[in-house]
Amino acid sequence: MSAHTLTVAGVAVDTRHWVGGERVTSAETFTDHSPIDGTVLGEIARGTATEASAAVAAARAAFPGWAATPPAERARILHVVADGVEKRIEDLAIVETHDNGALLRSHRRGVMPRVAHNFRFFADWLLKLGHDDFATRGHTNHVSWDPAGPCVLITPWNAPLMLASWKIAPALAAGDTVILKPAEWSPLTASLLADIAAEAGLPAGVLNIVQGYGAEAGSALVSHPDVRRISFTGSVPTAKTIAAAAAANLVPASFELGGKSPLLVFADADLDLAVDLAVEQYDNAGQVCLAATRILVEETVADEFTRRFTEKASALRQGDPRDEATDIGPNIHPRQLEKIDGFVQRALTAGARAVIGGHRGEGQFYAPTLLTDVAQDSEIVQEEVFGPVLTLQTFADEDEAVRLANDTRFGLAATVATGDKARAERVTAQLVAGTVWVNCFFVRDLQAPFGGSRQSGVGREGGTWSFDFYCDLKNTVTAPRGWRDH
Ligand code: NAD
Repeated sequence: MSAHTLTVAGVAVDTRHWVGGERVTSAETFTDHSPIDGTVLGEIARGTATEASAAVAAARAAFPGWAATPPAERARILHVVADGVEKRIEDLAIVETHDNGALLRSHRRGVMPRVAHNFRFFADWLLKLGHDDFATRGHTNHVSWDPAGPCVLITPWNAPLMLASWKIAPALAAGDTVILKPAEWSPLTASLLADIAAEAGLPAGVLNIVQGYGAEAGSALVSHPDVRRISFTGSVPTAKTIAAAAAANLVPASFELGGKSPLLVFADADLDLAVDLAVEQYDNAGQVCLAATRILVEETVADEFTRRFTEKASALRQGDPRDEATDIGPNIHPRQLEKIDGFVQRALTAGARAVIGGHRGEGQFYAPTLLTDVAQDSEIVQEEVFGPVLTLQTFADEDEAVRLANDTRFGLAATVATGDKARAERVTAQLVAGTVWVNCFFVRDLQAPFGGSRQSGVGREGGTWSFDFYCDLKNTVTAPRGWRDH
């Protein structure tokens, strides 16, 4: 085994970058830990401006060839990548679970199959894209979706390969070349994807991966003048830094950011369904951007809702994410745990009451927490915690429910539990959010636009919206005159 390979549960992972179809080392490394028990998974090549520049140069060199590859051939290769992901679901799932602590069963049965689907979906959608032709005073207009060039993709740690493939698949389908910078807390499955892509026959330089810290590798990538698109998923403060770098080069950038989404529970709702939706917010130990962390319940059913919620949430099993019976795994990093506990302890000091939880668990676990007696303008109601921490507030009527729901600087998602269709229509029409779910949560069709309003993001991903972003749209106007007869 090479000095540049680590093994996770028997799966070999190359710890080097992937640039121009080759593995590349760096002078320095960073240490990757498992959130399950804090063990060191290995030393990972730590990219700097040097590796960032090399990756952009490789993506630039590969761009003309990939852009000129017929769409049907690009789509074919992306389907072979999807085949490769499907063949390695078990490896990808076990490595991701060790690297970010999310449940093995959901990686196996939900996340990794979705990664394959992401490649298939955008490959197929590429072939369905309209190429509108229309006439203007006898002139034809031909609208084409031209590849834009090298794209930098920056992703967070909470759903590493899922979020990376949401970006990589449409960018590659569009004919762009990419440089992915995975999060430093969970870089491993990106490296496995490089192996899969190479085996699938993706030409060298079309997909490049530079590992490392945001402030080093990430900032060098987003400020590189040869980059044509930047797609970022992560936190608001980082987004602002990247937006400034993108603005300096006038590069279009899309941002998928945090949230503080509400779950509105009306008295006419199926209360057991509403409780299920609320308890689901602890998934991935609360490290989900879309999580409805503010539960707003109509006063008349608040006591009964709280009773049933407490019963259900108390039965959740927290433990080893590799165990099929586990419902909630660890949080990603000791620093994240400190951040979560800081929010909770400040809220308790300010007068909040913990219905359940309110403290750390053992190791890298945080007890699933529900806080009541929280003020609308308090930190715990307004700021994203990114851990298994929910707040519960009550409302008297529909107007107050909508007012509380919208009283935030975020606008990523909202969930409404009601048995009244007219109410559902009235309320959803007033909510400020990129996605609104009614009596359901987390259902995502890739055809739908996905993104955030307000500080939850800029731009939309999904279906044609992804191609709008990753392509330079071009209109060619041709006159009916001036042609030579041959
Ligand atoms: P983060 O902003 O700290 O880091 C995200 C990525 O940006 C990492 O790869 C990091 O290395 C990189 N980065 C950091 N500084 C950078 C810089 N100056 N230049 C370039 N890159 C830089 O976010 P995080 O803590 O990894 O992720 C959690 C956040 O992501 C939460 O706010 C969550 O809501 C959000 N998120 C949003 C979505 C969505 O689709 N809206 C999905 C998942 C997570």
